[in-house]
Amino acid sequence: MDDELIGEIDMVSLPDEDGRFEGPDDVGLVTEVADMLAVFAAQRLERVDRFRRNALADAARYGGGVVEVVHRSLRLELAAALRITEHAAQTLLAHAEALVHRYPGALTSLGEARITERHAQILADLLDDASAEVRERVSDRAVELAEQHPVGTFRRALRRLIDTEESVTLTQRHEAALTQRRVVIEPAADGMAWLHALLPAVEAHAIHARLTGMGKALTSHPDNTRTLDQTRADVLGDLLIDGDTGSLTPEARGIRATVAVTVPALTLLTEGTTHGSGGATATDDSHLHRSAPATVEGLGPIPLDTAKELCGGADGWMRILTHPETGMVLSVGRTQYRPPPALRRLVKWRADTCMAPGCTIPASRCEIDHTIAWHHGGPTSLENHAPLCTGHHTIKHHGGWTVEQIPDSGGALLWTSPSGRRYRVEPERRVPVFRPSAHPADAGDAPV
Ligand SMILES: [Zn+2]
Repeated sequence: MDDELIGEIDMVSLPDEDGRFEGPDDVGLVTEVADMLAVFAAQRLERVDRFRRNALADAARYGGGVVEVVHRSLRLELAAALRITEHAAQTLLAHAEALVHRYPGALTSLGEARITERHAQILADLLDDASAEVRERVSDRAVELAEQHPVGTFRRALRRLIDTEESVTLTQRHEAALTQRRVVIEPAADGMAWLHALLPAVEAHAIHARLTGMGKALTSHPDNTRTLDQTRADVLGDLLIDGDTGSLTPEARGIRATVAVTVPALTLLTEGTTHGSGGATATDDSHLHRSAPATVEGLGPIPLDTAKELCGGADGWMRILTHPETGMVLSVGRTQYRPPPALRRLVKWRADTCMAPGCTIPASRCEIDHTIAWHHGGPTSLENHAPLCTGHHTIKHHGGWTVEQIPDSGGALLWTSPSGRRYRVEPERRVPVFRPSAHPADAGDAPV
């Protein structure tokens, strides 16, 4: 539902009280000129790049100097002609080249005033930093995001998209690397030798953590004379040669490493699995639901498949979901005005920032707003809460705006301005939509 509104800014000029349509109102006059600026920005980028290409071609034709010198010269000329700094001229040249040659879709969109010049610059900067493979895969999607989101939200959404795609290539690279696993012995001086093992990083850390755990238990013994390094090596030898730890003191036996794996819960849900209490249904219609890669404490990102395996219940893996697990408090209905801490955390986790259009103030610094005010019968529930920064909270209550939660959207808000324009704000993450029947807490809450 409301598909026609997704991410789009409705440019509706409302008729006046007598029903006459008066053409653009004051806001419309401003947006009109903003559209013209976008069109001109696109033309400027094209012309700047043409200037660069022609200057380089001329230099080549006349055998003129080193490329670097030619570049400096055209930068100087552009700066002088536009009366801007050479630094600004360099940035302009770089953006022009990127948009004309690498991101033509974004340039077209700018030329049609569907994005602003700032969007185009952010797109070029972020994609230029990504690997070529990822850039190739996400550039179309990046333009769509730019067309849907205000600048601040766009930057975050694009960065997230790039991170997610990088983690996909991480998985592919990991699979290839996995075939190289092996154990190698290398002679060392004085009757010693190195034993090397090339293993998946998660397992290597688990092994080292277990050796450390057992080593610490041994070195803490009053009679101990060995260093931690020495005991780790001794324990490794005992375990691999005899396969048991019978020679160890009782307190050092049976120690198993615990490695903390952090997996965004929604990542585990994305494969169409729905779980939760009863009728929980995961809504899944956008890349934004794809979460950041899974990470292992002290190690960094790991392939998602590994993370899923680890979270499948194998012993020794402490699972930390960045989304409260089932049993999370989604609603306390009308029993309590102030949301309980678990619900507050969930509301902030879902939005990540203030839920006003384009605002990027972190949710941790926001107030939790009842979208429908408590004294107007609004419940204390996930579907009726959003974080707002102090400034936007005030505007919502006193600025002539109306704010609604979009039903079944997983937390999107629809802001309607005093001039009648509507802006849809998407949360950073989704929470599965829970049907009321799944919530005994709401059972007493007759729908109004
Ligand atoms: Zn705000």
